[in-house]
Amino acid sequence: MLFQPIKKNIKAMAVQPNLIDYTTTRVEFSWKAVRHELSGLPGGQGINIAHEAIDRHTEGANQNRVAIRFLDKDGGVTDLSYADLRDRSNRFANLLRSLNVAKGDRIFWLAGRIPLLYSIFFGTLKNLNVFCPLFAAFGPEPVCQRLERGNARILVTTGKQYTKKIAPLLNRLPELHYILLVDSADDINDQVLSLPRLMNEATDNFTIPPTDPEDMAILHFTSGTTGLPKGAVHVHNAVQTHFITGRYVLDLHQEDIYWCTADPGWVTGTSYGIITPLLHGVTSIVDEADFEPERWYRILQEQKVTVWYTAPTAIRMLMRAPEELPRKFDLSALRLVHSVGEPLNPEAVLWGQRALGLPIHDNWWQTETGGIMIANYAAFEVRPGSMGLPLPGIDAAILTHLDADSVREEGVGVEGELALRRGWPSMFRTYLHDEERYRKCFVGEWYLTGDLARRDDDGYYWFIGRADDIIKTAGHMVGPFEVESCLMGHPAVAEAGVIGKPESTIGELVKAFVVLKAGYKAGDQLRRELIGFGRIHLGSVVAPKEIDFVDNLPKTRSGKIMRRLLKARELNLPIGDTSTLEGSSTS
Ligand code: AMP
Repeated sequence: MLFQPIKKNIKAMAVQPNLIDYTTTRVEFSWKAVRHELSGLPGGQGINIAHEAIDRHTEGANQNRVAIRFLDKDGGVTDLSYADLRDRSNRFANLLRSLNVAKGDRIFWLAGRIPLLYSIFFGTLKNLNVFCPLFAAFGPEPVCQRLERGNARILVTTGKQYTKKIAPLLNRLPELHYILLVDSADDINDQVLSLPRLMNEATDNFTIPPTDPEDMAILHFTSGTTGLPKGAVHVHNAVQTHFITGRYVLDLHQEDIYWCTADPGWVTGTSYGIITPLLHGVTSIVDEADFEPERWYRILQEQKVTVWYTAPTAIRMLMRAPEELPRKFDLSALRLVHSVGEPLNPEAVLWGQRALGLPIHDNWWQTETGGIMIANYAAFEVRPGSMGLPLPGIDAAILTHLDADSVREEGVGVEGELALRRGWPSMFRTYLHDEERYRKCFVGEWYLTGDLARRDDDGYYWFIGRADDIIKTAGHMVGPFEVESCLMGHPAVAEAGVIGKPESTIGELVKAFVVLKAGYKAGDQLRRELIGFGRIHLGSVVAPKEIDFVDNLPKTRSGKIMRRLLKARELNLPIGDTSTLEGSSTS
């Protein structure tokens, strides 16, 4: 271990952590017991996330507690109580009924972070529909692919997004019945309707129908190395993981003021930006504005945030601001800082200790796991650079593949693929329309995460890298194939190979190597044009930020681009095994 562990003094903590005895809690843990802690729908009618997060709080004094405090860009504040959320989500559920939306139909969200999000999210779940969030900065191509693949029935969006990204591609979306505009007072036509009008007309009494815990609730798209984006299917039962991670990892207590900075377009934005804080009846802060260091510190101070969940890219951006900056603010309410989404450098953990007076608690999970699986906890020492210990109820392991159907479990210190024993409640249930790809994620009892890691003597897990070519840029998964396919849509491009190039703030930046068609001249002008082309079609997060022109791309004999080799060359690293390289002498 390069960096000394940061010890904790539980006795000195103003709030006693929820998880204090890790070993006993693990031994005694049962998911069945967690299920019994949830209230379930009245009359034993199953489990519905919306009931657990909202309705069950609205019977007593908590109904007037602020559930969501929304800070808008210009300084305005909108408070939504648990009762407000109950009534508004009921309206949306009734509205869906009136539009004849059937159980299981998919409701897509492409409207960013606005107060309506929360009513739409829970209303969707109440009517047994499936919520699918999209990242508002996606370009038209990723948006359209996901709507098509997810069989979108209803899209909730803004007028601007509709005009820019949806209207030109509507012919590709025959299953899309209605588009509901959040910012239009009037209907545009029979298909494009005003959401405010419909919400006003709907009533706010709604009884959640019986909900099987295995009913599909949320669809999250994530990127793979090849092919189309993968739609990870999550069910209502996932709420057990949300509940228990809220207790043990986020360490929520009812009086907490919690702030999760994740965008609702990603899984953290729903699991921990919407569901989990409300399960624990806390007040959740939502900020409409983009990242800005002073603004963020001011929010922590003014809102008296106690538990803060953010991401390595944001932390690294805060680290670039002068270190005195946080000291100008009163951050004394803050007691826990968590981070997820990409590797968190040990320096960032130590920076937290110096600048905020608190170490940053890294945790690990994925779209597919639905909730936090490995974490640093309030009561236990933080080992800078480590993702922490598996959640009680979760068995993790490091595996080596022996062949397609068998794996070997490795011991302490050995690098291998991080795996989780299948069967936890928030495990994804399939990839929509791709059962085969889903099956390939499992060997026997293990779910294979695609991440490489090792475990130390005390059971702490340390991230090493991805086992595949997926890029993590500013916390977002980008599939190289999506970017390569888009670039090849430009008339000058014959072929493209895309990698993640390490970058100090955003983790990795998307870099493309492009082979031009005959007659096109490499140069800055074409480079700018291709970068612009990528931004228009893919959006700013996914588009390549750097482009190199090359004469050819390294390929396997079966014709696959060897991105690993492109990356090794770019970074001057050893190029490793090239026996499958096209034109190599080994056979
Ligand atoms: P996503 O499905 O978009 O949430 O991305 C999941 C992937 O992000 C994981 O498989 C990891 O590669 C990466 N990731 C998430 N959390 C961490 C972490 N704490 N440390 C390192 N990588 C992480």
